[in-house]
Amino acid sequence: MFDKSTWIQLPRNVLVGHGVLDELSAAVGELYLSGRPLLVTSPTPNDIAGDRVRAQFDDPTTITISEASFDSVERVIEAGREMDAGYLVALGGGKAIDTAKMASDSLDCGFISVPTAASHDGIVSGRSSIPEGDTRHSVAADPPLAVVADTEILADAPWELTTAGCADIISNYTAVKDWQLAHRLKNVEYSEYSGALSQMTAEMLVGNSDSIKKGLEESAWVVVKALVSSGVAMSISGSSRPASGAEHLFSHQLDRLVPGRALHGHQVGVGSIVTEYLHSGEQGEWRDIRDALDTMDAPTTASELGISDETVIEALTTAHTIRDRYTILGDGVSEEAAIEAATFTGVI
Ligand SMILES: [Zn+2]
Repeated sequence: MFDKSTWIQLPRNVLVGHGVLDELSAAVGELYLSGRPLLVTSPTPNDIAGDRVRAQFDDPTTITISEASFDSVERVIEAGREMDAGYLVALGGGKAIDTAKMASDSLDCGFISVPTAASHDGIVSGRSSIPEGDTRHSVAADPPLAVVADTEILADAPWELTTAGCADIISNYTAVKDWQLAHRLKNVEYSEYSGALSQMTAEMLVGNSDSIKKGLEESAWVVVKALVSSGVAMSISGSSRPASGAEHLFSHQLDRLVPGRALHGHQVGVGSIVTEYLHSGEQGEWRDIRDALDTMDAPTTASELGISDETVIEALTTAHTIRDRYTILGDGVSEEAAIEAATFTGVI
């Protein structure tokens, strides 16, 4: 008997392009939402675009958060209850969007994602990651109802945020390999559509890495479209698997060992170089990953991340303990093997 079922949740309106911020209220109007919006933002994005967002709505309320934390999530939930928010508008980078995503889940209302930096794939996906103490909680939440990504604003964001977004996409390459491995070895459910979409997105970015250039608005366009595809891949499988494998475990471990040292995307990019080597050896495609990162000025070594060689090795040898997610790291890479892989690929 056929008894499979799936529920794919996607954003309904995705606007990407020059000046689309001014179409935000039109995109929201299309969703038939009711009630007043609560704008969730952080100080810099609020300065950049807060007024342009507020001008498009009747009687909006704004809450400004300074960090992604459970405290911030609580504050947003409280503010939302107090004003009886109809929906949330998240304006900013990871902080505002991750916070609004989690709060909207508790408030049982939708949220609109308005990224001001293309720094990671969370701007489109239903995944949220909030640090607590020395760990990070990755939580499943609903994806945004709409995404309004204005390339004029994104192109103005600090360049390293864009290269971090690129690196987060490129890491899908090894994430999919880990997913396939887990499917073969542990019978983890694998989605062909999702895996193929995610892999193609990473390959397109590697292939176009020389068109990702500082000061070029088209770069923001290429990156956001890739982030949207990656988010769709996660929605199709209902899992972060297509975009998160061993390279993400490595990055999460770095977050515990040296919190705040480097950007998420940059850490997973460097992680991908090593895990691709672990997957396919000396002749594998780790050079393509490294060269693509290098072309767009994203870090490819421990020192470019500002992290010591010892810490990178510690993260590689302990990353498998972070969560129950089978990857190429298996039940742990030995110190000697980690040093060999990181040295051969030039990471340390
Ligand atoms: Zn990521």
